[in-house]
Amino acid sequence: MPDSPNSADIPDSLVRRTPWPQSASRAVGTPLQPSVVYASDTPDQLDAQYEGRVKGYTYAREGHPNAEVLAAKIDALEGATGGLIVGSGMAAVTAALMGLLGAGDHVIGGDQLYGRSLRLMMQDLQRFGIATSLADPTDAAAVAAAIRPETRMILIETVSNPTLRLADLEGIAAITRARGILLAVDATFTTPRALRVLDHGADIVIHSVTKLLAGHSDATLGYVAARDPAHRKAIYDFAVTTGLTPSPFDCWLAERGLHSFHLRYDRAEANAARLADHLAGLTGVRRVLYPLRPDHPDHNRAVGLLGARGGNMVSFELTGGRAAANALTRAMPDLAFAPTLGDIGTTLSHPASSSHRAVAPEARQQIGISEGFFRISVGCEDIDLLLAEFGRGVAAAASVAD
Ligand SMILES: *Cc1c(COP(=O)(O)O)cnc(C)c1O
Repeated sequence: MPDSPNSADIPDSLVRRTPWPQSASRAVGTPLQPSVVYASDTPDQLDAQYEGRVKGYTYAREGHPNAEVLAAKIDALEGATGGLIVGSGMAAVTAALMGLLGAGDHVIGGDQLYGRSLRLMMQDLQRFGIATSLADPTDAAAVAAAIRPETRMILIETVSNPTLRLADLEGIAAITRARGILLAVDATFTTPRALRVLDHGADIVIHSVTKLLAGHSDATLGYVAARDPAHRKAIYDFAVTTGLTPSPFDCWLAERGLHSFHLRYDRAEANAARLADHLAGLTGVRRVLYPLRPDHPDHNRAVGLLGARGGNMVSFELTGGRAAANALTRAMPDLAFAPTLGDIGTTLSHPASSSHRAVAPEARQQIGISEGFFRISVGCEDIDLLLAEFGRGVAAAASVAD
């Protein structure tokens, strides 16, 4: 039998925390603070903290410094106040919908929302007595026609995935303003670099920070900000109660990523415009979708809303089908074929086998997503590398008969 541990073997200096070393100079990098809990001096001080008379953290689920630093940075980009960082983009969508809606309310969603947002609307919300319907956000009249007396919110994305259609944001905002309905916009694809949706009539802005804002595919986070302080409080309380807490380390990574956001965005966007035009000239490509190309179905709206900011997303369709699609990815082995977006490097996704695999082939065809359809999240590589790589990929696809 080994001896049972004697308390004398556990020095107090290991159990108790060592005070943080003093330094007359300050850290240049943002400190990472993973502490779950914060010690206060007295119960009176704790009262003062909870009553907002002094500022102090108490428990990380209720807020922590790395989330606050990150939120402040995105607030500044969005022109928002009091934005909240949560554990994922879907946590942000959930907090906005479930924090503000209740049984008996009706919410309208864009009919090409992010897959999990659609699922939340069509399956989960309904279990809580929140009625949902979908409408085409490129058509404000179609959205208006879906409104019921109990409609409380409309949730849209500015640019849809993967067909890159532009919502009629101004048209829908005019309707929500006139009818007293909340307009929530998931602005993940456009980012505040292209469009500050709160300046265009949105009441709530949502981001998957995971994507372009953090930018390195190593942190899963979301952001939600509401114009009205009462909505902010309702969203915050829901997020704290249901534990949508972001990890401090992820916040730290995302804040670090944000330092280079504008540089990454501008570079990726310039690459995207060049790559879109290049693809359009290649044999074996049926069509290219990029908002600033004159052949884009919403070109005028894109120019009106985004100006010269076409973003980093480009979609294209091969003339061939699945065999051509397989040949393309095989011919581009160094490019990440992965269903994400916003990474510093270019990634390629194939909706028919990933994001839209649950959609019936006929329904997919109807929105123009064939087996030869790809979506590119253009990154910051040298443009010549991208042009050569896609040239090889499309040539390999074009040589396959199917
Ligand atoms: C990725 C994404 C989400 C979900 O974000 P997560 O961080 O993966 O939870 C929501 N909306 C859009 C438009 C997205 O692209």
